Amino acid sequence: MQKRWVIGSALVAALTTLFSYGNASAENTENAREKLHEVRKEKKDLLEEITKNDSSLKKYTDQIEQAENQVIKIQKQVDQKVVEWRRAKDVEKVYREKYNKRIRRLYQLGEFGYMRTLLSAKSFGQFLARFESVRLIMKQDYSLLKNRMDAAAAVQKKKSELENMRKQQQKLMDDSRKAYEELIKRQEDKKSELKKLAAQEAEYKDMVMEINKELLASGRLNFPFKEFTRNPLDRMRVTSHFNLSGRLDPVLGYVRPHKGTDFGAPRGTPIYAPGDGVVVENRPASGYGWILSIYHGHKDGKPVISRYGHCYGWDVTVEVGEEVEAGQMISKVGNNGQSTGAHLHFEIRRDFGRDAPAVDPLNWLN
Ligand SMILES: [Zn+2]
Repeated sequence: MQKRWVIGSALVAALTTLFSYGNASAENTENAREKLHEVRKEKKDLLEEITKNDSSLKKYTDQIEQAENQVIKIQKQVDQKVVEWRRAKDVEKVYREKYNKRIRRLYQLGEFGYMRTLLSAKSFGQFLARFESVRLIMKQDYSLLKNRMDAAAAVQKKKSELENMRKQQQKLMDDSRKAYEELIKRQEDKKSELKKLAAQEAEYKDMVMEINKELLASGRLNFPFKEFTRNPLDRMRVTSHFNLSGRLDPVLGYVRPHKGTDFGAPRGTPIYAPGDGVVVENRPASGYGWILSIYHGHKDGKPVISRYGHCYGWDVTVEVGEEVEAGQMISKVGNNGQSTGAHLHFEIRRDFGRDAPAVDPLNWLN
């Protein structure tokens, strides 16, 4: 007695939940769907950002590597210039000492001694020659010294230029490294945000799935049809057309209507949802091998349902009640059921149920 009461109250609770879904279904459903779409969009944007950041990271690591190579190259040039500068300084030092010595000697000779040297000339010609040579020696010494000093200064200038270049490269390297580290941190944040969004998505997905299943069961699944935006296969190769008046069935060997279009494709080729919708069927079915159906909304007062035949159940990636988006992979091409080779049997039906009117799918695709 006690046990029965417990089971009974659990059932009441379950029914109350279902009833409350049903009660405010229009609003609740729209809310839940909207939330699911929002979360999915946010997730998509975030993924795009993460991908973009990843390529920026690559750019930074390239920059760091390039700057490092530049620094090494410049450092080699700086080292060479340091050697040259030292050599120039040594030579300049020798010359400076020589020059100073000469100046000192001239000074020690004094003006008188200097004059005496000149005056001891035996002729005016000799005097001029001596005078000229003293002047030349001094001038030569001076210009030699000046050249050496200039050379040392030039080397010094080049060296500091190179050092500046190296500093710039070092700065570029440091900046890139800093930017890289900041971006890594941002990427980590984004990835944990993505995880949170995925959890939220799963929650909304479950909620929407329950609502959709309930709406489907009570015949109230109804939203406006949105045009298809892509084909179910990337490469569309028709192997057998839609034909309601009947075609010779390649497997059964007699004439019967062909309610869809066959597209030949290797086994395992991805099948994509051509438009947004809700999965309404996902089960084994005779002839089809397996049938997957998506409700895409109402158009001109009638449901639009796409159906996919000959897949293998284990290849189907969606479940009944699930909201799918245009371009989402839903299954793979198989060779299940009455089929002479791997292909997708694709149908468009204008109502729920197995006897719903079929229309030519090619009028619905690009
Ligand atoms: Zn077919």
